[in-house]
This record gives sequence, C-alpha cells and structure tokens, in this order.
Amino acid sequence: MNPKFVRVVLLVLVLANLFIYNVYATTKEVALTIDDLPFVGTNSATKGNLGRAHDRFGKILDYLVDAHIPATGFIIANSIASGQWELLEAFRNAGFSLGNHTYSHANLNQMSADKYIAEIAKADKILAPVMTQPKYFRYPYLAEGRGATKQEVQKYLVENQYIIAPVTVDSKDYQFNERLLHIPWRVRDQYVSKIKQQYLNYVWRQTLKAERHSKDGSSVQILLIHANLLNSHCLGDLIKMYQDNGYQFVSLERALAHQSTPSTGEINDQQMSFNKVDALWLFLQGYPIAFKIDRL
Ligand SMILES: [Zn+2]
Repeated sequence: MNPKFVRVVLLVLVLANLFIYNVYATTKEVALTIDDLPFVGTNSATKGNLGRAHDRFGKILDYLVDAHIPATGFIIANSIASGQWELLEAFRNAGFSLGNHTYSHANLNQMSADKYIAEIAKADKILAPVMTQPKYFRYPYLAEGRGATKQEVQKYLVENQYIIAPVTVDSKDYQFNERLLHIPWRVRDQYVSKIKQQYLNYVWRQTLKAERHSKDGSSVQILLIHANLLNSHCLGDLIKMYQDNGYQFVSLERALAHQSTPSTGEINDQQMSFNKVDALWLFLQGYPIAFKIDRL
C-alpha cells in the first residue's frame, strides 16, 4: 500500500478520534430537581400565606416554562394544602415530572425500615393522581439509612418500580432562603439581589467541585433546589448561569443514563434551622433583621 496513503488514513483516524473525544469531553448537562413541593413552609401556613405560596409557585413554574427546560419535582404528601393540588396539576400539565418525597418528610437515619416504607406507601397512594412515569423517589435530608435498614428500603423501592433520584450538586438554597425570610418583607426587595449573588456564587462553586469528580471530562449533574421564596426570585438567573457556562438542561431520566459521578449523600435539607450565627452574619453584613417572621 502507498505509504503516503497510509499516513493520510492514520491522520484522518487520529483527527476523528480527537473530534469525538472533544465532543464527548465538553458534554455539560444538568438535570434540575425541586424538592418539598408544593411549597416550603405550607405546613404552618395561614390563608394569607397560601396566597403568597400560590404566587411564588407560579413564578417558579413560569421560569421553567419560559426557559423551556425540563424539571422534576418531589412532593411531601402531607403538605398539600387545600387549593394546592391545582399547583401540582399545573406543574405536571406543563410537561414536568413529579415524584415521591415521603408522606411527612421522614428521615431514614432516625426510623426503622418498616415505618419508613409505610411513609413511602402512604405517599404513593395519595400522590397517584399526579405522579408521573417513571416513578422517582428522593430521600428527605438525602438520608439513605445504613446497613440492613438501607437495604430493606432500597429493595422495597426497586420492587415497587421506584427509581432513586440522587444529587450531585446540593445548592443548600435553604440557607439563603432563611436569610431572605429573616429580612422584614417591607424592605426585602432591596436585599434580594445581594443574597441572589451569594446564592449563585455558592451553587457555581459546588458545581465546579462536582465537575472535578468526573472521570472522563464530561459533566452530568443533578442539581437539588427547593420550591421556596428564594427560587421564586432567583430561578431565572440560576438557569441562565448554567446556560452561560455551557450547560444544557436535560431530564432526570437522561442525566441518570449518562451519569457517572456518585451522589453527594450529605444529610441536609431545607428544614435545618436558622441559628444565631446566621442572624449575626446578617447583622454584620448590614441587613435589617425581622424579629417575627412569616414562613412564607
Ligand atoms: Zn426535602
């Protein structure tokens, strides 16, 4: 064979390989998951609060619809107040997925497998009218239990056609949400942009950290946020931040098919309390602090 021809063929093969590698290496995908639907704080809500939760849920839904991105929500079955079924239906009818987040936001690190399974089953029954296929489950507090307890619950989930939804980027948005809630609502709007910037910076740092876990240079992330006040203000910018950095939003199904990074498995969630250190932080940063706060 002509040596020149062989060299050309080899060169073409090398270039094709590089091209394929680069396309693969630059894959950046993120699946958005939203926990604690219908809305954080509904359990202790008054009628006025519920009105506000309605508006804020609507804003979150609008951000998703306007940006044409897929999302999966996880519902706490006992926190659906009257009038909130329609929010869940609107979410599902807009093409988004809805999964199970237990009946009462149960913590598997603090209860038996039997009790926990009863929590999942009770939620499954209640949520049947709005849950989508495939069936997804997200552990509250990302608490997966240990040893035999962990195995028993996992077995139950598999036998009942549930797919466990892991997390690779935990936004810890509940912390920024708490800061926002502690600013008196009359002056809140003046401080939203400052807290938003801190929130976005934090999420981006977490994303870069998660990217470093990736072995093949591609980045497929599953982002956890909550249906809360903070995201009713920030979700549009959060979406834009990922897109500006080359990420494409994909369904949870696609992310799970592509994902090679492990879940963070950290135990935390929106229900962690706001403490004195947080209050002091707000004070030192020059924020006004409300003594009595509305959870919504
Ligand atoms: Zn939760």
